[in-house]
Formats: sequence, structure tokens, C-alpha cells
Amino acid sequence: MQDLNRIFPATPKGWQYELVYKRIRHIYFRIYPDKKIVRISAPSRISQKAFEHAVQSKSAWLTQKLTALGDGPPLFKPLLAMKDSFSCMVWGRQLSVVRGTCNARPGICLSPESESEIVIRAPSGFDPKKEANLWNRWLRTLLNKRIQILLEKWQPVMGVAPAEFRLKKMKTRWGSCNTVARRIWINTVLVHLEPCLLEYVLVHELVHLLEPGHTQRFYQIMETYLPDWKESEMRLDRIELSKI
Ligand SMILES: [Zn+2]
Repeated sequence: MQDLNRIFPATPKGWQYELVYKRIRHIYFRIYPDKKIVRISAPSRISQKAFEHAVQSKSAWLTQKLTALGDGPPLFKPLLAMKDSFSCMVWGRQLSVVRGTCNARPGICLSPESESEIVIRAPSGFDPKKEANLWNRWLRTLLNKRIQILLEKWQPVMGVAPAEFRLKKMKTRWGSCNTVARRIWINTVLVHLEPCLLEYVLVHELVHLLEPGHTQRFYQIMETYLPDWKESEMRLDRIELSKI
């Protein structure tokens, strides 16, 4: 294992590379975000010149990929604290939770001035179960609204429309599509992540209405609509959904 910056000086720090020689014709680069390793598989008889050429031609691509991944800790760590009594992560931003006075019905809203705080209005001694329901409803409303906006954006472009979409907290997938019923399911955890990740999941499921399987055509369509979909996929892959 060697420091990646030695051969790719422009890539972010902290990455290592591993060079494996195999009986193959071409050189391949594979990124392992969780281990921060780039594995380079090269033909066993590759010349130094050909190796350097391949490295040079991949430099911009690799730098862009690794920069997009960021050099912070894996995403699932902050997600463990996606909601506690002091803060809540909404659309990728950790917002602090403040308690306002409650004169009317209990409720949750973003502070109108800054939108960087969440104000919860509930009487003191409010039933924790009711408060949890309040949170769930509020987060679902946020998610619903954004999905509506995204559907308005993508339906005309893609020429498809789901019969309905539903929200569910799922342990193994970010979204799913029943192509017969034309029903799309979206994981509620997405409300805590950056909006572009919800957009990726929704577009992925909409593409299933055009092409049910993960075929070559499916990925061609994906590429047309969201050329950087792979980055979003990689970022979601780093989150251990089953632990949330
Ligand atoms: Zn799929």
C-alpha cells in the first residue's frame, strides 16, 4: 500500500493505492471509499511508459471522484445523530432544536428568521410519544413537499409519471418501484441527507418506469438525466442503512 499522492499529486490527502498485476489486457482503477483505497489492476507485462500514460489519462477523473467523496469521516457517523433532543439533520444540515412557548396546538417549524433552527412548540411535560409523532409528521411533510417539486421537474422531462409515491423507513433500500402498480417507495431517511441524494433516488425509481431492470439501457437513461448519478450512489452506499 502506498500514498496515492505519490502518483496522483492532485488527489485529496489520506488515500492509499494498491497495485495488483493480473493477466488482463487493460488497466483498471477501482475506488474503495470506506477504506480510502484505490486499487489499480494492471496487466502483468505492462511497461513503465504505458503505466505512466494510463495514470496520467486517469488523473483528472480520479481527482474529481475522490474530491466528490470528500475527506471527512464516512457519512453514516453523523447520521447516528440525525435526530436527538438538541439537533436534527435536515437536508444535510445539522440544525439546532429550540423550544418555543406553546400557546396553541403543538407543532414544529423552521425558525422564520434564519431557517437554521428548528422550533418545537409543545407544552412542558409533553408526552414523548406524541412528540415523536410530531417529528415524524413534520419530517414527512418536508419530504413530501420536496418530492412534489422534484416530480414536477422530472415528469415532463422524462415523460413518465408514477401512479403514486409513498414514504417508508426502510432498512435495506433507499427507494423501490413496483413497475406494475407504478408505485414508488422512498426511504424517509432521505430527508436527513442532502437534497441531491433524494433527487438521485427518485430519478432512479422513475427510470424503472421506462426500464424495469438494471440493464445497460437503464444506466444509459440514468446517464442522460443525471450524469453524476454514480457519485450519489457511492455516497449512499457509504451509509449503513441497517444501523439507522
Ligand atoms: Zn433500481
